Amino acid sequence: MQVLSVTSEFFPLIKTGGLADVAGALPRALADENVVMRTLLPGYSDVIAGISSAGAISSLGDLFGGDATLLDARAQDGTELLVLDAPHLFARAGNPYLGPDGMDWPDNHFRFAALAWTAAEIGKGLIEGYRPDVIHGHDWQAALAPVYLAGIESRPATVMTIHNLAFQGIVPATELTALRLPPSSFTMDGLEYWGKISFLKGGIQYADRVTTVSPTYAREICTPDVGVGLDGVLRQRKDVLTGITNGIDCVVWNPGDDPNVLHPYTGDCLDAKLANKAALQARLGLENDPDTLLFCVISRLTAQKGFDLLLEALPTLLEQGGQLALLGSGDAKLEAAFADTVRRNPGQIGAVFGYDEPLSHQLQAGADAILIPSRFEPCGLTQLYGLRYGTLPIVARVGGLADTVIDANQAALVDGVATGFQFGSDSVTELRTAIERAFILYRNKEAWQQVQRRAMSRNVGWSAAAKTYTALYRELCSATTLVS
Ligand code: ADP
Repeated sequence: MQVLSVTSEFFPLIKTGGLADVAGALPRALADENVVMRTLLPGYSDVIAGISSAGAISSLGDLFGGDATLLDARAQDGTELLVLDAPHLFARAGNPYLGPDGMDWPDNHFRFAALAWTAAEIGKGLIEGYRPDVIHGHDWQAALAPVYLAGIESRPATVMTIHNLAFQGIVPATELTALRLPPSSFTMDGLEYWGKISFLKGGIQYADRVTTVSPTYAREICTPDVGVGLDGVLRQRKDVLTGITNGIDCVVWNPGDDPNVLHPYTGDCLDAKLANKAALQARLGLENDPDTLLFCVISRLTAQKGFDLLLEALPTLLEQGGQLALLGSGDAKLEAAFADTVRRNPGQIGAVFGYDEPLSHQLQAGADAILIPSRFEPCGLTQLYGLRYGTLPIVARVGGLADTVIDANQAALVDGVATGFQFGSDSVTELRTAIERAFILYRNKEAWQQVQRRAMSRNVGWSAAAKTYTALYRELCSATTLVS
């Protein structure tokens, strides 16, 4: 079984969030299921600099304003890549979506239409001797691939995974021809969205299967509250929509063998975690105190993630003598608000604004708990890293957070199944209560460590999801005819 994964991010070459981690881990996870996954990604400057043994494999000719070539390459771990080398679109360093002014690149629709176009061309046989059975695209950046393939005879099956419905790729209808989209696609049953073109709607309508990254989010996006205007479309497609919970790469995220972590530890030697706590407190200018409950945040700082709620709930955390270590970047107002809390609470709150992969591992290793107050969360990965590192997740009861953390209520504690704390989303009162509950459990060291050990023993790897994706690919390929 040959699958082409189409993605705008891929860890470790280019990452802004969870999509990179998922796209980076899937090929290895699927290899265990005898699925050969190649990954198509844009040749951003950071990608071209990070790959080895790149050779031109095909030419795409003129692709939206300049010559484009497909490179056959490998990531550092040997994962097979196909890199779209189109310097006029991708030879730009840094964030893959934003220019130096922090705004979207104005030609993003051409950049990612080019990615999807290339995927479709590969599906039609662009590379001699290679025809994927399935093209699996991620998010709006890959969503036009099934649209470009529509009507093609003996095309590969297509799967579209929604990692975040909030990003849809919406552009004026006047771009239809320039994007090489057939006029027939511009209908209500196609990619037309309130008179504009929606890349994501196109993917949802044209893909043979639509998946998202947790069962709860799959249900939520079919409702007006979370459906971001596409809930009606998703309800219509619910027969082909499934939620498959993400896993994490347990090799990259292994507290017992993590090169970023100063003092490796396992569930059997949790006291070693304390040495990481001391190091983290020193690094973030926090008071050195092994007994204080140290919370962390590792996140994009955006409205989605609910950190305005945390700002309001902070007095509860501070009054009880807790500490907060924050690593994040995004919304300037949120950054300024947290910077202000650092100034007003020296030694109790520390923050690093920016993106720092090694530090994110050190936070997971050193903190006692991780706060994730998201308003919506398709799957979320940081709570899974938290489980793996014995850093108890305190999460809003939404999307994948609801599916992956078992609340430490009385019954779950008695039954021995609790792994963290849940609270009703979008509520400062509920968040405060969850923080208070964490303090109560923390004061009982033995009970806290039991929950930590249980969290660490949870199977958060890719094996279950890889099996489910494989079953889905096989089912699709065994269908005799695909509706084009
Ligand atoms: P999303 O994809 O919505 O940003 P996820 O929880 O699915 O949220 O994934 C976020 C990923 O990005 C995780 O791997 C997390 O560790 C990482 N991350 C987020 N912010 C930062 C940061 N400032 N520095 C380093 N890593 C970060």
